[in-house]
Amino acid sequence: MERVDCVVIGAGVIGLAVARRLAQAGREVIVLEAAEGIGTVTSSRNSEVIHAGIYYPAGSLMARMCVSGRHALYAYCREHGIPHRNCGKLIVATTPKETAKLASIRAHAEANGVDDLKTLSGDDARAMEPALSCDAALLSPSTGIIDSHAFMLALRGEAEDSGAALAFHTPLLHARASGERIELDAGGDAPMSLECRLLVNAAGLAASAVARAIEGMPIDLIPPAYLAKGNYFSCSARAPFSHLIYPVPEPGGLGVHLTLDMAGQARFGPDVEWVESIDYAVDPLRAERFYPAIRRYWPTLPDGALMPSYSGIRPKIVPPAVAVQDFLIQGPRHHGVEGLINLFGIESPGLTSSLAIADYVGELAGP
Ligand SMILES: Cc1cc2nc3c(=O)[nH]c(=O)nc-3n(C[C@H](O)[C@H](O)[C@H](O)COP(=O)(O)OP(=O)(O)OC[C@H]3O[C@@H](n4cnc5c(N)ncnc54)[C@H](O)[C@@H]3O)c2cc1C
Repeated sequence: MERVDCVVIGAGVIGLAVARRLAQAGREVIVLEAAEGIGTVTSSRNSEVIHAGIYYPAGSLMARMCVSGRHALYAYCREHGIPHRNCGKLIVATTPKETAKLASIRAHAEANGVDDLKTLSGDDARAMEPALSCDAALLSPSTGIIDSHAFMLALRGEAEDSGAALAFHTPLLHARASGERIELDAGGDAPMSLECRLLVNAAGLAASAVARAIEGMPIDLIPPAYLAKGNYFSCSARAPFSHLIYPVPEPGGLGVHLTLDMAGQARFGPDVEWVESIDYAVDPLRAERFYPAIRRYWPTLPDGALMPSYSGIRPKIVPPAVAVQDFLIQGPRHHGVEGLINLFGIESPGLTSSLAIADYVGELAGP
């Protein structure tokens, strides 16, 4: 059985950021990835928004890591030439009731350390975005967009430059934690057995299943896995917006919002559809709910303009009735298993937070 220092399960944005962080700290790292390449699952099925950190519960890991991760991510993009755009976002109120909510959203954001929001009248907002219909808005100048694939390629490159190795088509099958070392078996093209000092479970949607495959991990500390699909529609008409446009959030979701990709193409979504199994097909009929929601802030959206695009699935660890969840990052102090770190529920803002999450894991891992 081969001995290595650290094994990371999953080469999504989180596994890659963790591998880079550990390798740059001088540790020997191997990343085991079930798929054929990096970032093929949730990390390539998201909105690619660099979130400011406005809505997350004060003091939560999401709130803290989104803000520190955002700063780190912008700096990383600048230093490494990763395509990104600090385009800003408008949260638009279309009724007096929603306008009244803007003040509490701003106060909540400030409690999270997001202190750059600006309150705009409807006219101020329209001066920035003439096609917009709204009574008032909040401008979030620090929201942006990123080419997430270029980011992941850079993380992989840096991890490999520091000695990390990646093995594709290599799913973790099971592991045994006993004492100071963890033994594990991986399948796929080139089955292997390894022994490591540190095992980081960054398997995204499969994180709970991977944790259950680790003998010695207390079952009662493994959260259940729920799947909340988010469907996107693209727009055949040119959307006349240069900022991301979000409605005032409604209970259970952020509402049907408009994001832009690096090519300036608009997409709408993601909505929230709780599902029992993973299926990324987008039901065209869901567009019927998108039109009225979008026309509240963009009344001239033409009929027939929305086309099913793609979907992603949020790795939820709380059921639909529970409105909020936080990242759940467990080290030995939480579960008692020496050398094991589990990352559960890394949904949005996981991309924005990835460098901060990697630092946190690096701290938990110790020297
Ligand atoms: C609809 C949607 C929109 C989002 N929008 C944003 C956004 O705009 N901004 C933002 O900051 N965040 C966003 N997010 C969140 C972000 O995409 C995720 O937090 C992030 O991609 C999670 O990365 P990950 O590495 O944990 O998971 P993944 O990318 O899913 O990677 C996990 C990897 O583990 C591998 N794996 C699984 N099981 C095994 C095994 N047994 N052995 C080996 N490998 C295994 C998988 O193949 C996969 O490659 C969004 C998420 C969704 C669903």
